[in-house]
Amino acid sequence: MRGRKSKRAKRQEFEQMQAPSLGGVTVPRGDGSTVVRLRRGASLSDFADKIDANPASLVTVLFHLGEMATATQSLDEDTFGTLGAELGYIIEMVSAEDEDRELLGAFDIDLEGELEAEGDDVLEPRPPVVTVMGHVDHGKTKLLDAVRSSDVVAGEAGGITQHIGAYQVHHEHEGVDRAITFIDTPGHEAFTAMRARGAQVTDIAILVVAADDGVMPQTVEALNHAQAAGVPIVVAVNKVDKEGANPAKIRQQLTEYNLVAEEYGGDTMFVDVSAKNRVGIEDLLDAVLLTADAALDLRANPDKDARGVAIEANLDKGRGSVATVLVQSGTLAVGDSIVAGTAHGRVRAMFDEHGENLDVALPSRPVQVLGLTSVPRAGDTFIVAPDDRTARQIAEKREAAERAATLAKRRKRISLEDFTQALEQGKVETLNLVLKGDVSGAVEALEDALLKIDVGDEVELRIIHRGVGAITQNDVNLATVDNAIIIGFNVKPADRVRDLADREGVDIRYYTVIYQAIDDVEAALKGMLKPEYEEVQLGTAEIREIFRSSKAGNIAGTIVRSGVITRNSKARVLRNGVVVGDNLQIDSLKRFKDDATEVREGYECGIGLGSFNDIQLEDVIETFEMREKPRS
Ligand code: GDP
Repeated sequence: MRGRKSKRAKRQEFEQMQAPSLGGVTVPRGDGSTVVRLRRGASLSDFADKIDANPASLVTVLFHLGEMATATQSLDEDTFGTLGAELGYIIEMVSAEDEDRELLGAFDIDLEGELEAEGDDVLEPRPPVVTVMGHVDHGKTKLLDAVRSSDVVAGEAGGITQHIGAYQVHHEHEGVDRAITFIDTPGHEAFTAMRARGAQVTDIAILVVAADDGVMPQTVEALNHAQAAGVPIVVAVNKVDKEGANPAKIRQQLTEYNLVAEEYGGDTMFVDVSAKNRVGIEDLLDAVLLTADAALDLRANPDKDARGVAIEANLDKGRGSVATVLVQSGTLAVGDSIVAGTAHGRVRAMFDEHGENLDVALPSRPVQVLGLTSVPRAGDTFIVAPDDRTARQIAEKREAAERAATLAKRRKRISLEDFTQALEQGKVETLNLVLKGDVSGAVEALEDALLKIDVGDEVELRIIHRGVGAITQNDVNLATVDNAIIIGFNVKPADRVRDLADREGVDIRYYTVIYQAIDDVEAALKGMLKPEYEEVQLGTAEIREIFRSSKAGNIAGTIVRSGVITRNSKARVLRNGVVVGDNLQIDSLKRFKDDATEVREGYECGIGLGSFNDIQLEDVIETFEMREKPRS
């Protein structure tokens, strides 16, 4: 009994170790529910580490699944998912947030734990942070202007003179002086971008709706974003001064979106305003404070190192990196070591929206900070670190993590070459294109011609955007979202935009001749576009002597005449300029008795060409490699 059982167990173990369909390599298999956690930007090596496998065998398995990657190359989640499924593992990618949490944890910084531990004894009220959203032209900018000029303090200080990305106003509410912070970039794009990066900046959203226009697409978009983020909304019904304004209709329309006005029995405050005539602004600020007091518990501990979010930042010629940050908890002081995203440094000076120098900034205060070594991105979180060294190390670690993640992502997007493959695998059905050209005639001609390509039923060609002028950041963003390829006809992107495309893995192709662009797209659609390779000569060696060996065949004693001879490179043999042996490889390469990996011009070496023995004195061995040819 025992013998039989153990035999079966052994066999099972053996079967588990084998993956015959995958090139017969041995990989420890999971049971289908084994979870493996990987970081963004992890490689096959990292995966191999976790499951105690040989990285090379994972390369083989992946190859048999139709993907080629080296052991150390960063791969994306999809690739790991496919590989994991094949081997019986569930792959979980560590989210960027978790990764950062772990990173900070290594420095004994636990932001969430810190917040949870704060009780009533340390929490103090802080002003609400407001973002103004709404449809284009409904008056967001005008309203921000009106609020700015309503500031009771600004009246004394000479008004808010600086645009720093956010400002704070003071307002007398029920006899008490209260502060409110406004994010000075209207629209939900900034709001969403920050939220996408994990930053929750806004406490309350003011939804601006023009009373003469009503609820429009971006109104709905904005309120969806706010509701998704759980941010209470105050509705500013704007342009009530205009003829044809119908504030009641706005209230009516918005009930459909669960925004029911108080006067209709709901709990959303609607305030009629005219941003232009600065009417109703005080009421709007009252409504913001009433909503904040009713719906939110806005308190923070001011008595610790500051934590917050970068709102906007730029590089100033004279002052270096200038970043506006919003302090969310703690107190930021001049001299603090801070790290914001991958930027770090020491706070050299701080300014408020009046251009006044500040020594400290309390929760909900936006301040412009000088002293960072580089420019953080909007939505990057910032923290005060115990010292400069820690700040620098955190920044460097984040940068490394980001680089790895970017590398993994870069593989992911589509290029015109992989389109064919993706098409065959049924991963895509549509080729999305963004067309940019130098003159509108060319763009139209290109678009017409592209749309005339007969592509059959399985695949669709969509031109998601076209335009005249250089390839912009917006084009790249669009291509990123829709997995599109950008075609530039006589136009190129700025370096900054090219870098972005590179980071995002967006394929930009440049053409100066229309039919070439059409040919390429047609070829991709019909599954014929293969990368073009060209041969690049690496080195030549002349045969001066021939050593005959029964074991290794003929060895050519040569002198390298040009370039370098490298072991394993492709080779051919020429006699009087005529090829007498092709498709060969430098099988062995020796300097005297020792194996060499490469031998340079002017040196002698022994070359073995594997089973090819037909060599004569004065033959030339030429080595070369195939390089992918950039298309023009
Ligand atoms: P945004 O696109 O939402 O930022 O809108 P703007 O603030 O740029 O305003 C769009 C247009 O509406 C501008 O021409 C403003 O002058 C005008 N506008 C804004 N608020 C009012 C208002 O209360 N009354 C009137 N009559 N016009 C307004």
